Amino acid sequence: MIFLDHNAGAPPHPRVRERLRSLLGGEEWANPSSPHRAGRAAKELVEEARESVALSVGTSTAQMTFTSGATEANAAAIRHWAMDAGDRRTIVSTPVEHPSVMEPLRRMELEGWRLLWAPVDRHGSVPADWIGSALDGDVAFAVCMSANNETGALLPWRKWAAECAKREIPLHVDATQSWGREDVPVGVVRGSVAWSGHKVGSLTGVGALWLSETKGFVGLAQGGSQERGRRAGTESVLAIASLGEVARVAASGASRREWSEWIEILWEQVADRPGVSRTVAAVDSLPNTLHLGLPSRAETAVMRLDLEGVAVSAGSACASGSMRPSPVLLAMGWNETEAARGLRISVGHAVDESGVRKAAAILREVLTK
Ligand code: PLP
Repeated sequence: MIFLDHNAGAPPHPRVRERLRSLLGGEEWANPSSPHRAGRAAKELVEEARESVALSVGTSTAQMTFTSGATEANAAAIRHWAMDAGDRRTIVSTPVEHPSVMEPLRRMELEGWRLLWAPVDRHGSVPADWIGSALDGDVAFAVCMSANNETGALLPWRKWAAECAKREIPLHVDATQSWGREDVPVGVVRGSVAWSGHKVGSLTGVGALWLSETKGFVGLAQGGSQERGRRAGTESVLAIASLGEVARVAASGASRREWSEWIEILWEQVADRPGVSRTVAAVDSLPNTLHLGLPSRAETAVMRLDLEGVAVSAGSACASGSMRPSPVLLAMGWNETEAARGLRISVGHAVDESGVRKAAAILREVLTK
């Protein structure tokens, strides 16, 4: 299979496979809270991973909490900032957030919070200056993803970070799709940043939450004092080790230019196909993502490509199981028919240039017939 669906979740990176193979024969399966040798080995592994994950975003290990992924990290951060809100009742966010942000926020809206949504255009772009006018004295916190999982569009989270910090308003950034694909200098944020590792080749079910100020933070589940009391529950040691392993790859940024070249190879093959449009220009996009508007339903193209051995997706992995038109594209002003015609292609470590060229030719043929 030629795998062009990294934004949904990538296969384990070769470094992860190699590391896990060697770890499975060792003693690191133990509970890291245990005082014996096996427990200490597991603890060491967790702390070694914390160091490389912290390094990948330019921060200290003390601010990093491991979680079961970005869904948990997003939920924990949103709850934390809500509990810290005092009398303020407004939350500022964007209407293209991942469901793990959108669902908690929608629920809060039903509970009486006021939600202020940023405008988004047909290309997934949020005007950078808008946030300045949105932050008034009632804003409790803001939430902005760094890049959209479906379209690859980059969002102005750095500008949000600067404007929020000026007013001492916490900002939560969902950086899941950016980690390993662009620099994520978390230190510019006064608030929190979440991500997971499986988009870049860790095991699934592991991620991280960075907090600029960890004091007073309480995780979603209470219990043991793991993760400095911020996340109760025995650590998933091998999954955390896999996150540490891909953190080294993420920090190097070595493949980013290559990925953007592959995206252009794919686009060049289909740019002249009737009714095919590119949703996000290269300069406004993650280097690994190409989102297309097609002349007919994307599901059909996905199935035909699958038969030819090419894996892509229509909508995000969460939305595509449901056969509903993508809520992200609807939020960008696409109508229902158009929103059912969005195709996402995302490259990464599990494909190489010859695979991309082969897939580009197959894609051209599918979009021709
Ligand atoms: N946020 C974004 C932008 C995502 O793309 C995803 C995964 O699809 C998540 C959050 C949820 O991550 P996880 O699957 O690690 O819970």
